[in-house]
Amino acid sequence: MTDQLEKKRILIVDDSEGIRLMVATLLSSSGYEIAAAENGEECLATVTTFHPDLILLDIMMPLIHGIDVLKQLKSDTATSHIGVIMCSGKDFKPDKDLTIRHGAYAFITKPFSFDELLTTIEGYFSGEGSPATLLPPVTARVHEFSSIIEPTTPYIRFWGTRGSIPVSGPAFIHHGGNTPCLEINVDGMTVVVDAGTGIRELGVKLKEEHPRPLHLFIGHTHWDHIQGFPFFVPAYLPGTSLTVYGASGFGKDLRSIFSGQLDSDYFPVQLQDLSSSILFNDLKDNPVIVGNFQMHWCYVHHQGAAVGFKFALGGKTIVYMTDNEFLKGYLGAPDPALISHEMKVVYRELIDFITGADVLIAEAQYMDDEYPFKIGWGHTSLTNGCLLCKLAKVKQWIITHHDPMHSDEFLEKKLAKTKEVLESISYQIPVSLAADGMIEYF
Ligand SMILES: [Zn+2]
Ligand SMILES: [Zn+2]
Repeated sequence: MTDQLEKKRILIVDDSEGIRLMVATLLSSSGYEIAAAENGEECLATVTTFHPDLILLDIMMPLIHGIDVLKQLKSDTATSHIGVIMCSGKDFKPDKDLTIRHGAYAFITKPFSFDELLTTIEGYFSGEGSPATLLPPVTARVHEFSSIIEPTTPYIRFWGTRGSIPVSGPAFIHHGGNTPCLEINVDGMTVVVDAGTGIRELGVKLKEEHPRPLHLFIGHTHWDHIQGFPFFVPAYLPGTSLTVYGASGFGKDLRSIFSGQLDSDYFPVQLQDLSSSILFNDLKDNPVIVGNFQMHWCYVHHQGAAVGFKFALGGKTIVYMTDNEFLKGYLGAPDPALISHEMKVVYRELIDFITGADVLIAEAQYMDDEYPFKIGWGHTSLTNGCLLCKLAKVKQWIITHHDPMHSDEFLEKKLAKTKEVLESISYQIPVSLAADGMIEYF
């Protein structure tokens, strides 16, 4: 199609070797000159040597997130002219809109057909306007509030297990109504995941203990995961050092988001007035090492910069992943054999990250009959949650991030249904519902 001398140069950036090879082979045979990079850092380095005309850019990649790469390319006059087509399975509307605002020519959802890719690339090189705006819409608990905790036994404690918004009242007494917060106690050190409303009570407990370093990991900064932070007492205590970790790459950095939350329009005390020493740490290293504790993380399928976490306690591997839409749009039968190969490729990294977990703490927020009305909201259906457990060979599942519409009574029925679905796919692992105050020792 193009003369040898006029070959257009395309840089493929994707951390999946399979996708890099497949796309490189197909585009080479269509007359393009190809280079490939497996992460954001390598992409930026390759741009200076390969001088691409166009970049096919994945979003969820290690080292430098795809959106950050896009921003860097478009803000540098030496590279701002290079066309960028985003290619990702993470195609929530806010993410797509953001990439277009930052100068991407188009957004292609994985798995994509080669025809679709080629048409978009040809559209770019022929000078057609961005098709971006024309893209179609994508379709047990224990309840032991133990006053004595053995300091030598590692444990996790749920301080909030409700998704989206806190709830209260007689219908929610058993499982609780606080939004997500998980305490991890290891080697006498406290690591906290998420700062939903549950963190308020955790802060009251920690206040009684000596000031010490605290580490707070934020899965993502939607309200339900940060709204308890302004009420976290240790943040107000001189002598406490608090490190907050979270993913960046979708607009504001972590400090700006927390600072915005404490803006005087919303709250009487501002971030700079808190007396503890607070350090914000945008996630880059993987794992993050805190003393002897290692926290691995991976991007999940949810709006914005959202991640899940993996850590080891007492010889067990635990994955905590609250908000994640697995098999987005899949409404088929709970049969792993029916999931297309292409769909499995999109979720390969997520499945690999979870594989081997002794305990998966994750959502399946919607019943199967609720899910068709909530596709693209960033949460998984009951059936798809069961499929994830089977595909990742999870040994135990604790369901959390309960929907605010689901009462205690409803959740019990939902749990029974979950066990039925697991049985129907011959994957009968222990499954239970997380509840505020529940402790698991390891
Ligand atoms: Zn949430
Ligand atoms: Zn969310």
